[in-house]
This record gives sequence, structure tokens and C-alpha cells, in this order.
Amino acid sequence: MTIEHGRMQLSNGIDPLELVQKYGAPLYVYDAAVIERQYKRLHSAFKVKSLRLNFACKALTNVSVLRLMKKLGSGLDTVSVQEVQMGLMAGFAPQEIMFTPSGVSMAEMEAAVNLGVRINVDNLPMLEQFGLKFPHIPVCIRVNPHIMAGGNLQTSVGHVDSKFGISVHQLPLVKRIMDNTGLKMEGIHMHTGSDILQSEAFMAGTELLLNAAKDYPDLSFVNLGSGFKVPYKPNDVETDIEELGEKISTRFKAFCKAYGRELTLVFEPGKFLVSEAGSFLVRVNAVKQTTSTVFACVDSGFNHLIRPMFYGSYHKISNLSNPQGKMQHYNIVGYICETDTFATNRALSEVHEGDILCFHNAGAYCFSMANNYNSRLLPAEVLIYQGKDHLIRERQTLDDLLRNQVQIEI
Ligand SMILES: *Cc1c(COP(=O)(O)O)cnc(C)c1O
Repeated sequence: MTIEHGRMQLSNGIDPLELVQKYGAPLYVYDAAVIERQYKRLHSAFKVKSLRLNFACKALTNVSVLRLMKKLGSGLDTVSVQEVQMGLMAGFAPQEIMFTPSGVSMAEMEAAVNLGVRINVDNLPMLEQFGLKFPHIPVCIRVNPHIMAGGNLQTSVGHVDSKFGISVHQLPLVKRIMDNTGLKMEGIHMHTGSDILQSEAFMAGTELLLNAAKDYPDLSFVNLGSGFKVPYKPNDVETDIEELGEKISTRFKAFCKAYGRELTLVFEPGKFLVSEAGSFLVRVNAVKQTTSTVFACVDSGFNHLIRPMFYGSYHKISNLSNPQGKMQHYNIVGYICETDTFATNRALSEVHEGDILCFHNAGAYCFSMANNYNSRLLPAEVLIYQGKDHLIRERQTLDDLLRNQVQIEI
């Protein structure tokens, strides 16, 4: 969002307050122009012969967003067979979809194989079973490089105690299983975690992975995962994509030369592509003064946006209804009957009942983590595409809560 004449606006001058009038609150709004900007920025940061960006769709799984990604030229990274099915529905070819699950059943793997998508294996027993059953289907191997990186312990998934991936020290076993079963390795992968600040950590992981890669002659791609950080706070640090891009491109080109063939370099960004494109608009139900604190109570809660409570994440918040007011401090809290605090002691332009607040950076891991706790309904989603607003998900109704319930005679 940008500020024009003291008011926040989305691309093409669209006023978020008008969207709330039209679609109601709470409301998720995504700006396709921002997604496109981020896609292009990331794509042009890597100067290699063959580059592929696979959108990690667990960040934002709306089918219309997936279609936008497809149009931009992206592939897809999926973590469940349902995400695979959504990707196919959105128009991705099976081979543009990578299935990167963690600890799933053989039945789910088989379902993915039957849908024709690329398979990423993250544990040795699965590799063995898979090799016995599908020796002719080439796989990608998810390697755990044992590097501590990422915003915090929950989002750091490549360290030694993480459940993700096959330890880099177990690669000799991988090789033995592949030789015994006749499996071929088409790709090698790591994903060390979300919010990686230091390009050194990223480069160390890259080095480890490329070192492992040279022992496997059938590769067609190397997938370095994601972890690109975007700014959440004012003056926040962000990954210097251009600098990282140069370093990795140089290293990757040298690798391909030594390997003897051009391979495809793959990344699977989630947050980087969609976080900043999203705004979550909520209405203030009450402003409540206690002895020491002023609470701004909004018509949402951790049922719609759980990141602050789940990860301690910071989301910038603005008062769209009173952008020029006097700054005051508030605890912004939800309506769920649990402690669901979005922000503590946060300076906001003076808040009144009925005001619309905006949570910024609400594109990634916000709607996709929403749930129906307290029998609350999920909000609507709107996509600004080519300068116009489009409803891409209707607000839930009571029927949605009852749909799968079976009422017995009591
Ligand atoms: C979640 C996930 C990503 C995306 O991470 P971001 O921090 O959102 O970019 C990439 N790869 C895998 C395997 C993931 O599980």
C-alpha cells in the first residue's frame, strides 16, 4: 500500500475503505501488481541459463492466486496432495509441480505419483519403499544441511534437530538405496527455513548441497528452497536479493561447468512473492480502557491471523479511518475467547469504534492458516488484478460450519 494525500491506497488508486464498504469486514485483499513486482525482482536477481521459481503455495493457496502465478511463469511447490490437486486445477502441468511433503504415508506419495507431479523425498524409509515400488520414477532428495538459520526455532527447519529432510551425513545411505533399487535422482533440494537474514548461511547451505550434488550424475535441477526475508517492520532488514542472486549465480555457473551440463536452478519462495501483497482489513468493535491499558478490540482474532500469537510475528498496523490522528498506544486484541493479542503497546493514530485497521504483510501464512475456532466464519478474499477488484473467495456462512456435520437423533 502507498500513501497519497494522507490516505492509504492500493494499486490503481483503489481505496481499501471502499473495498470494505463493498465486501464487508474483515477482509483479505491482495494486490496482483505487488506479486508480479516481487516475482520479476526475484527472477531477475539470478543470472543463470535456466531458472525456475516454484511458488510455495501453502503461503497463499487461493486458486485465483495460483492462476496468477502460472501466468507469471512460476511453477508450484506443494506439501499435500490437496495442494497438488489445487495446482492442477489452476492449470499447472504436472511436471511444473513439486510435491515436497514431510513424513507422509506411502498412499499419499502414490496419489502424487499418479497425478504425474515431481516427487521430493524427505526420509530414508520412504526412499527405500518408493524405490521398490516406483524404480522408474526419478526423485528429488530433500537434504538437511544442518544449518541453523531462519527467524526463530519454529521456522528454522534445516538445523540438526529438525524433522525435515535427510541428513547430509546420511547421503552415502541414499546412494546405496538408489543403487540397490535403480532409482534415479533428478534433483537435489534443501530448504533451511523462513526469514533467513544472513546470505552467509544461505551460501554455506548452497556449498554443502552442491558438494553433495556432484556425486549424482542424473540431475536435472538443484533446488535451494527459500527463506527470503521481506520487511515486516518499518526499517526492517530484508534479504539483499540482488547481492545474494549474484553470489549464487556465480557459484552455480561454476558448478554446472564442473558438472559438465547446464542444470536448472530452482527456488521455492512463498513469503517473498505474496507477503507484502496482502492487507487484512478489520473493524474496531470497541475501544476499552482498563486501569493501565487501552484495548482496541477488532472483529477478528487468531482464527483469521495467527502469526502474531503462533510465532510472535510482528505485523505493521495502520488506522485507515483516521490516518492523520494523534498517535496513541493500544493493545490490539481479537474477539476469540483466548488471549489473542495482535500487538502490545502499539502506537496507532487515534482509534474510534467503527474504524478500519489494516494489518500489513498479510499475504503469506495468514488466510492459509485461518480456522473456524469459536465457530467464527472465514473472511472473504479480494484480488486487485489489472486495476480492478475481484472477489476470489466468498465470506463463509453458517452452512459452511454445518456442511460436514452429521446430526444424529439424541
Ligand atoms: C514453506 C516452504 C517454503 C516457503 O518458505 P518461505 O519462507 O515462505 O519462502 C519453501 N519450501 C518448502 C519446502 C516449504 O515447506
